[in-house]
Amino acid sequence: MRIAVLREGAPGELRVALVPENVTRLVKQGHEVRVERGAGEAAGFPDAAYTAAGAQVGDAAAALDGARVVAAVQRPSEAQVERLPPGALLVGLLAPHAAGPLLERLAARGVDAMAMEKVPRTTRAQSMDALSSQATLAGYKAVLLGASALPRILPMMTTAAGTLAPAKAFVVGAGVAGLQAIATARRLGAVVSAFDVRPVVKEQVQSLGAAFVEVPAVAAEGTGGYAKELGQSEQERVLAAIAGHVKDMDLVITTAQIPGRPAPRLITADMVRSMRPGSVVVDLAAETGGNCELTRAGETVVDAGVSVIGAVNLPSTVPFHASQMYGRNVVTLLAHLFKDGKADLDAQEEIAAAMLVVHGGKVRA
Ligand code: NAD
Repeated sequence: MRIAVLREGAPGELRVALVPENVTRLVKQGHEVRVERGAGEAAGFPDAAYTAAGAQVGDAAAALDGARVVAAVQRPSEAQVERLPPGALLVGLLAPHAAGPLLERLAARGVDAMAMEKVPRTTRAQSMDALSSQATLAGYKAVLLGASALPRILPMMTTAAGTLAPAKAFVVGAGVAGLQAIATARRLGAVVSAFDVRPVVKEQVQSLGAAFVEVPAVAAEGTGGYAKELGQSEQERVLAAIAGHVKDMDLVITTAQIPGRPAPRLITADMVRSMRPGSVVVDLAAETGGNCELTRAGETVVDAGVSVIGAVNLPSTVPFHASQMYGRNVVTLLAHLFKDGKADLDAQEEIAAAMLVVHGGKVRA
């Protein structure tokens, strides 16, 4: 089976869908891998490394010629879609809820598509779960961004020039990204607290050495391990608890999301203004509307001396490891979908059925 890797076209996207070690594995499994020239350059994987791993490196047309699978990180551009071979399967983070026209074009072209966002969140599919692999890196990087924007250091330091108190960090939303943010902030020496609406998370937060901010009678466990939206009285209690806590924080990292919904609003403008000047909010939910009222995606807003960083696509800021993890997710998925080198896809199979957003000329999302 022939597998193609294209150069990502989205602005600021530095990741690549497969790295050389993935190529080695796929070639060993009997596949042929073709890579567009320069596809891995920005992530630290030169063309020569792909060639050494057994891939053929060439222009986009050569990479796509006869491809059964096209592996991508983000959605392809319109021009790229027009070059996809009919009958191929496109695999990528396609953001299917907001990709209507793209999916229609793919269907019209006879290209099937699988959204990596739709990997079922089951134990069996864990090693294919790109949302988790990328969120882990986003959580890590959010703390580094926040730490470098702060006018103070994170750890306690006892020196001849006096003792410096550790910074206080608060993580809102303790899912995959939030737990990694907690672990990273702890490693850097901050005193960390966290809040989530899923009570099951409390133990995980505490096991990382952070304090859990309790809000009595709030429990919004949805399906598949996700949260659901809060009712109005719950939301009021949550906001009151956060308002009481946040004013004493130096660094706030927000990661709260509800699948398919705008991000819940949890940090109001007044809360930001109650924080000490110099404090920092890093909003990982910026792309879905933001957890903070002042967030602007891709920008840093400074209000009353507090910086609100609307972080977007943080995994792409660590493209080497983000690509390595994403590539492993893709390779595991392909090994699952195409067993024993067969190029046929069983669209009824559980994982394929959950992920296929275009199949047989029809949009399914
Ligand atoms: P996510 O990105 O959808 O949400 C991030 C966090 O925000 C979640 O922990 C959620 O509870 C929290 N949140 C939502 N509304 C909130 C609010 N109003 N206030 C505070 N917090 C709020 O979720 P995620 O991090 O991708 O995954 C969440 C959970 O799903 C994981 O912790 C895990 O339990 C489960 N999961 C399971 C698997 C698997 O089994 N393979 C894989 C990934 C995740």
